[in-house]
Amino acid sequence: MKEHYTVLIVGSGPAGLAAAFWMKKNVPAYIPNPVSVAIVDKTRYPSGGLINDGKMNLTPFIGMDDYTDNRIDLPTAWEHIHFFDEILVRHGANPELTGIDERVVGVWRDRLATHGLELVTETRQRHIGTDRSKQVINSMREELQGAGIEFELGQGVTEIIPRQDGLFEVSLEREGIPGTITCDYLLLSPGRSGSQWFRNQLDTLDIPYSLSPIEVGVRIEMLRTDYPIAEVIRDPKIKMTAENGDRVKTFCTNPGGKIRFDMPEQALHYKGRTLTMINGDGRRNSSTPNTNFAILNKIGLVEPEGDTEAYALDLIVKTFRAGGWKPIVQRLGRFLDYRRSKPGHFGNGERVQPTLPVVRTDGSIGVVMPGDINIVYPARTVHNIRDILMRLGQDMPGVMHPDNLLYAPEIKFQSVKVDVSGTLETKIPHFYVAGNGAGLSSGIVGAASNGILAAKGILGHLYPA
Ligand SMILES: Cc1cc2nc3c(=O)[nH]c(=O)nc-3n(C[C@H](O)[C@H](O)[C@H](O)COP(=O)(O)OP(=O)(O)OC[C@H]3O[C@@H](n4cnc5c(N)ncnc54)[C@H](O)[C@@H]3O)c2cc1C
Repeated sequence: MKEHYTVLIVGSGPAGLAAAFWMKKNVPAYIPNPVSVAIVDKTRYPSGGLINDGKMNLTPFIGMDDYTDNRIDLPTAWEHIHFFDEILVRHGANPELTGIDERVVGVWRDRLATHGLELVTETRQRHIGTDRSKQVINSMREELQGAGIEFELGQGVTEIIPRQDGLFEVSLEREGIPGTITCDYLLLSPGRSGSQWFRNQLDTLDIPYSLSPIEVGVRIEMLRTDYPIAEVIRDPKIKMTAENGDRVKTFCTNPGGKIRFDMPEQALHYKGRTLTMINGDGRRNSSTPNTNFAILNKIGLVEPEGDTEAYALDLIVKTFRAGGWKPIVQRLGRFLDYRRSKPGHFGNGERVQPTLPVVRTDGSIGVVMPGDINIVYPARTVHNIRDILMRLGQDMPGVMHPDNLLYAPEIKFQSVKVDVSGTLETKIPHFYVAGNGAGLSSGIVGAASNGILAAKGILGHLYPA
């Protein structure tokens, strides 16, 4: 590892990787290459959340805040999408797209609209699959390393000090051993797992930010045949505005997929316990008889209860407490009746079998506990979950089957939304932020777009027109 880099990227998720690829492509070749670039990550494997299921929403209308916040126009949004998508395909992502049959998508849009549901119709998606993502990431890393971009893995950044001479002094820690490097340009893209550390850095450096809304919800699991829309659009984004104005949506659908735990580094540590939330994924080369997806209710708070992150953490702890420090699973019929699911409600030949082991009466060791989501989630969220399920059930009756399973907590939160320039530079010159941790994107494609935008900003400084 060098002592100094021109550009230091902290975080090897889609934001950091896309930034590196953009620099690799656009650093002018006609001068001796004076630009040294390194990616630092606290984990030993580069990728951040790219290692997961990898459903790529190839549209500016999902998770791409660069476009929806007016930092970039539509052609630029498509430029970013195509740039990152081409890299993934070149490195082995599945070349097939889903959601491209406009006529069929239009039929679903019209059917759902009659029940007050809005289907996002820009639904071109590419699915990498958890079982293929490692191969894609390894290949991407090789290309970057071949171009001289260094990966410093297993190194957590602990502190950033902007110096008087304009350089940044970055403190790192590897297995308890501290080190320091300097850089001219810094891009922080620490994702959700680095959000608490990141917020502390912003406070220390007096970089302004606001607190983002959170999304509180459940993951539902049902028979694959009961959710036919996902056979046409692999991850349909269906939105509902509740009567009180609340926004509710479906998210991260996995036809033939499994319920799983969130990434360990995103777990909450509470009084000696590790609380890992629920998530879901799908594999390209194997499948279950089930489909799962999340239902999320957006919650924004205002003073005096303005700290959405603290609110989310309280809710997570409360849910785990009610589940004996495990996530809760509940049969939909019991949820609708406001009655607890019990271990005896599993293993009796029910229509839907859980893809995560449930605590049973026979003492089998389960990782999710039958319980009652109604007693932990806010009434408003419970009401909204019931509402969207009933509307979906009008078109797809199987969605309301009482044996379907709800899992909680599934809560998405980005603690902060950083105040940035049009190219994601903070108020400190040459200090850039990107991705989910900075509250500027959600999803792989949005994070990658952020990375590209920040890279453009840095190259704009390095090579003014
Ligand atoms: C189970 C699961 C499934 C998902 N499926 C999908 C999907 O199908 N489609 C989709 O679009 N999105 C999906 N997502 C979300 C997606 O992973 C994120 O939106 C995306 O990865 C965000 O990218 P990012 O670059 O902002 O951050 P990340 O990908 O989270 O990367 C941040 C990186 O920064 C590193 N880091 C943090 N702090 C430090 C520090 N102090 N020092 C050094 N390194 C640090 C972390 O180790 C991490 O590698 C999924 C997420 C999960 C958990």
